[in-house]
Amino acid sequence: MFETIRSDLYRIEVPLPNNPLRSLNSYVVTGGERALVVDTGMNQPECRAALETGLGAIGVDLTRTDFLITHFHADHLGLVATLAASDARVYFNEPEAVWTRKFKTADFISGMLERARVCGFPDNRLEEGLKQHPGIKYGPLRYPEFAVLHDGDIIEVGAYRFTCIQTPGHSPGHLCLYEPDKKILLSGDHVLGDITPNISGMLDDQDMLGAYLQSLDKVYELDVALVLPGHRRVFSDLKGRIHELREHHQIREAEVMTLLKTGVNTAYEMATRMSWDFVAESWDHFPLMQQWFAVGEAAAHLRHLVAKGAACRTMRDGICIYTVA
Ligand SMILES: [Zn+2]
Repeated sequence: MFETIRSDLYRIEVPLPNNPLRSLNSYVVTGGERALVVDTGMNQPECRAALETGLGAIGVDLTRTDFLITHFHADHLGLVATLAASDARVYFNEPEAVWTRKFKTADFISGMLERARVCGFPDNRLEEGLKQHPGIKYGPLRYPEFAVLHDGDIIEVGAYRFTCIQTPGHSPGHLCLYEPDKKILLSGDHVLGDITPNISGMLDDQDMLGAYLQSLDKVYELDVALVLPGHRRVFSDLKGRIHELREHHQIREAEVMTLLKTGVNTAYEMATRMSWDFVAESWDHFPLMQQWFAVGEAAAHLRHLVAKGAACRTMRDGICIYTVA
């Protein structure tokens, strides 16, 4: 139902049905006038039931609770509009708050289609991909009025004093929370212990992998004894995990470079040829959403190679074509 991590600090494991992530960690901080809930789960009945049950067991009063969302993905943001009282503060990072304010669903969906098409995703599978996309299926009912956070802002709840650390990469404005006295890092999806955070080059025309690696450097020097990630288990060795994540991306980069030299030239084609942890007989047996996220990951690597000057990118028939520089 919930786990006590430290005094006035709890973890509720929110199930994510039929999702390889399995569950989301929602963290609850109490001891102040108002409680703080960090991340919420998808807008799905199973998530809502687990979160409400956990909050009830901890003794959280939703009429006196604020929320902080580490980033815009539906498994973190999805339930906030459902749970937040009308006077609740909903803290959110500035880049994504600005972006969602401008957000018009139709534009967003056509933009998603277009970005997947540019990556070489087959035309005949785009519509189905969107239909299955968790961001479309389980996103929030509406966007609440956000209390916008910047890098370095402080949030105090009871005995906890968190510093906001902006860590773009997994998403454009992803935010971690650091409690220096207690040496705790709420790492969102920036640093996960058991799985590698997805870095997508599909979302934005930027070097998101480059941003991500810089954001790993940014948290590396923090004095941290306990990492509270957005998914899976809580862990302690932040520096060791960052080393593993850097190494993972170096190995991937070498693989992408090797394939690029053999003439593989779109993100989609690259994804079909790269090696993945996901257990399936072949690319064609991957669930469509896993293919979608894999193509995003391949695109992130290709863009990063372009940013480093190791690859070139041109457009052909509306699709990005990559070649060795
Ligand atoms: Zn995420």
